[in-house]
Amino acid sequence: MHTPRHDQTAEHDAPDGAAGPRRLDGLRFAPTLEREYRLHMRSAQRNSTLVCVITALGIWLTFIGFDLTRLHGMTALLAGEPDIVLAVALRLSALGVILALLVVLAARRLPRAYHRLSMLALGLIGVTSAYIANVFKLRGLPQADIAQLVIIAAVFLPVGLTFVQSLGVALFIGLFTTGLGFVMLEPAQFAEHMRLSILTLFAVLVSAVGAWLRERAERDQFLLRRMLHNRAMSDALTGIANRRGFEEHVAIALLQARRDRVPVVFAVLDVDHFKRYNDRYGHQAGDIALVLIARAIDSKLRPPMDMVGRLGGEEFGLLLYDTTPEKAQERLQRVAQAIAELGIEHAASPTAQFITVSMGAAAFDGQEAAADLYRRADAALYAGKASGRNRVELGEGSERLAG
Ligand code: GH3
Ligand code: MG
Ligand code: MG
Repeated sequence: MHTPRHDQTAEHDAPDGAAGPRRLDGLRFAPTLEREYRLHMRSAQRNSTLVCVITALGIWLTFIGFDLTRLHGMTALLAGEPDIVLAVALRLSALGVILALLVVLAARRLPRAYHRLSMLALGLIGVTSAYIANVFKLRGLPQADIAQLVIIAAVFLPVGLTFVQSLGVALFIGLFTTGLGFVMLEPAQFAEHMRLSILTLFAVLVSAVGAWLRERAERDQFLLRRMLHNRAMSDALTGIANRRGFEEHVAIALLQARRDRVPVVFAVLDVDHFKRYNDRYGHQAGDIALVLIARAIDSKLRPPMDMVGRLGGEEFGLLLYDTTPEKAQERLQRVAQAIAELGIEHAASPTAQFITVSMGAAAFDGQEAAADLYRRADAALYAGKASGRNRVELGEGSERLAG
């Protein structure tokens, strides 16, 4: 499932500043981010794609109407003239792909093959128009080839394709149009066809420049939005998820655990006698200790479903996914040990000579709300604090779920 750990993926792929993760061609992120971008683009451009496809459908039906009147299509078709039969077959297959695109767009989630279908539709439209323009010309009806210029521009509309995909299709259409003319037309028509071909390639160039600039701007915006989201979800001091980011992850993880019947343990961790630590060593030393503690906790978790978040002050939340209460007890002990092993001196602590933590844990019952789970873990923490600190306390009802 798609549940990025808020800070890490961002830091890895997209350091602050939009220029960081780009490769040399200017329009590509590192692989994970690139996947995320394309997914985002497909869903963001869904409405514009729908508008474009409906427009294309309207235009295509109009063209079919033109064919029938200008070429006396029905009579020619009934007479079985092969160029007309092929033209109609091409028109209808492009129509079929456009309709298939509409069906795909109506689905709740765009399938992976969406962009291939969309490229196929555009390619077929280009091929069909090029062919029919030549049929027109051979029958003394010039100028239908101007449509190629419009089609080239349409290839670069925001229909969920990347710049490189659009450019590929446009170049294919441009070169195909050029080549087909020299194959189909009569030599007397070549000079004029050459002029059209050059115009078509210029249309590719001009449209491509516009599309390239648009995609750059889109990628910049995507990075910025993602960076802001990551900032809003992570804790400035420790870099781990903040309360909001953590709660968002917990909500998703609990839904998934419920669906897949996976055991989950939720724990609240609180630093022992931290007020005294601050009083003794100063707030700044306290901050450093919190950073080290956050890292120590994080090192003992299993991404991407496990997660730690700073709930506030010196209190952390831990989510252990696919972990029974028995195993959780062991794993949380290892977290406590990792923190103790940091060996952060705490001479003012009545519990130990170094910083220790207390944890309260509760096993998800498969139904309850996150707030109830939190309440039970917090009650366990309170009990742990009361019975001497530096311990992991399993909440009521959790043992029952063990094993
Ligand atoms: P207990 O063992 O019962 O948890 O004792 P405690 O002193 O840790 O508990 P209490 O909640 O009374 O104190 C929490 C302290 O944590 C208060 C505050 O000084 C400190 N604290 C909270 N947030 C920060 C922070 O961001 N940086 C620093 N340095 N200290 C913080
Ligand atoms: Mg405390
Ligand atoms: Mg506290």
